[in-house]
Amino acid sequence: MYTDNDNRVSEPQSAAISDVDRLWDILVIGAGNAGLCAAITAAEAGCSVLVLEAATRDMRGGNTRHTRNLRAMHEAPTDVLTDAYSFEEYYDDLMRVTRGITNEHLASLTLEKSAELTSWLGARGVRFQPALSGTLNLGRTNAFFLGGGRALLNSLCRHAEGLGVELVYETPVDELVMDDGFCEGVRLESGQMIRAKKVITTAGGFEANLEWLAEGWGDPAKNFLVRGTPYNTGTILKSLLDHGAKPVGELDQCHAVAIDARAPKYDGGIASRIDGVPFGMVLNRDGKRFYDEGEDFWPKRYAIWGRLVAGQPDQIAYAILDSVGVKRFMPSVFTPIQDDTIEGLAGQLGLDPAAARLAVDEFNAACPEGPIDQSVLDGQATSGLTPEKTNWAAPVAVPPYFGFPLRPGITFTYMGVEVNDQAQILMADGKPSANLFAAGEIMAGNVLGQGYLAGIGMTIGAVFGRIAGEEASRLLNRPSIS
Ligand SMILES: Cc1cc2nc3c(=O)[nH]c(=O)nc-3n(C[C@H](O)[C@H](O)[C@H](O)COP(=O)(O)OP(=O)(O)OC[C@H]3O[C@@H](n4cnc5c(N)ncnc54)[C@H](O)[C@@H]3O)c2cc1C
Repeated sequence: MYTDNDNRVSEPQSAAISDVDRLWDILVIGAGNAGLCAAITAAEAGCSVLVLEAATRDMRGGNTRHTRNLRAMHEAPTDVLTDAYSFEEYYDDLMRVTRGITNEHLASLTLEKSAELTSWLGARGVRFQPALSGTLNLGRTNAFFLGGGRALLNSLCRHAEGLGVELVYETPVDELVMDDGFCEGVRLESGQMIRAKKVITTAGGFEANLEWLAEGWGDPAKNFLVRGTPYNTGTILKSLLDHGAKPVGELDQCHAVAIDARAPKYDGGIASRIDGVPFGMVLNRDGKRFYDEGEDFWPKRYAIWGRLVAGQPDQIAYAILDSVGVKRFMPSVFTPIQDDTIEGLAGQLGLDPAAARLAVDEFNAACPEGPIDQSVLDGQATSGLTPEKTNWAAPVAVPPYFGFPLRPGITFTYMGVEVNDQAQILMADGKPSANLFAAGEIMAGNVLGQGYLAGIGMTIGAVFGRIAGEEASRLLNRPSIS
């Protein structure tokens, strides 16, 4: 049997800000992608910038640490992207996944400004891989960071510090100190007050706060695994909302995928994702199939399986494959559970062996003759099942058999604060706050009302991080030079 593992990190230590009495031009809360883009932009405009980060230096960079790419429009091939990815195509893709639940003005702005990102980041030390070839043309739409998100963070932190940005770790901000819609500064967990003229909030969503998630999801939230940082608990988002910032997005909207149930409670990252669903069958706790495993190509479907598993009893499911199916996808970091019989596998997984045997027999009997072709939607569909499997249906019949227990793995939440096109936070009356800005996950719900487009999380953070840094500097009469 497998066990869940709670790997929440220890409580942060004390602050080490060089001058706690200083009135900073700009205070940035959270040193992920959005925060660093904002800090660099403001520092380049000549502002004094303090970045407060809850995590230790080793664990810096929040969810950004786990990323691999961003999605960028371009009219012609670039050094890191092939062909073209027009504004219109990008926009259509976004409208399809969000089903139109987006702020069209901010969505357009995000896409337009995405075109500048690889060169802007490149000029600040971030290196990209040469365009990838292969599956679904990701090399056309998504630019991959050489060395992944951690390398991107290292480059941005180094660049920021070179510009004089003060980056302080292990310093969680507890709350914003507000007076009549104006943010005077922030209070640290230690009780200390830090003051700034402009405050840019880039502290992520509330995906690591299972109690808050439960307000949208109910009890199932307790069984969610958090794929990213344990530090994104939504403290700053909560403080903003408590002080009258206008919320955007629904409480239960988020990006969530099916991950191995043996993954740690926090920070498991991309290696715990199970990509084998299309090449086998998925049973719930009661040994019943509940969704078409072959509905579409996996990159277009993986992001619905977190929600699907969350909807099952006890928020658990099991991917079952045979020795042919198990070779058809990139293995996860976890070794599958293996047995020579379906009954034996079911027993190891904690499923009723008879129920699993029945489900497999019914599934196998409904599969068509002939081989499957995973490179296309091959239409090899079951017949007579509820639900049918509509592509790549092949019997689970060649031992040994393999099983992966699945849990909902939450990536990031969408409910956040509403902003305008200057990244200013809007207050309940619809007017922009005098000195509060937001970028990244904390405002991603302005663009992502639902659904997800791979790579757009980093794009939203970088675009709005830059805008926030520019606008905050401009309001201090320090026009940005970037
Ligand atoms: C496993 C995984 C893979 C992903 N892959 C991709 C990808 O390839 N491409 C993509 O576009 N997106 C990806 N995403 C989503 C992406 O990580 C986010 O959209 C993006 O990193 C958000 O950036 P951010 O700066 O808003 O938040 P973060 O990078 O999470 O940064 C927020 C920071 O705020 C800090 N913080 C939180 N609360 C406080 C507080 N009270 N005081 C001080 N600091 C605080 C946190 O410690 C953290 O460092 C992935 C996410 C995960 C989990």
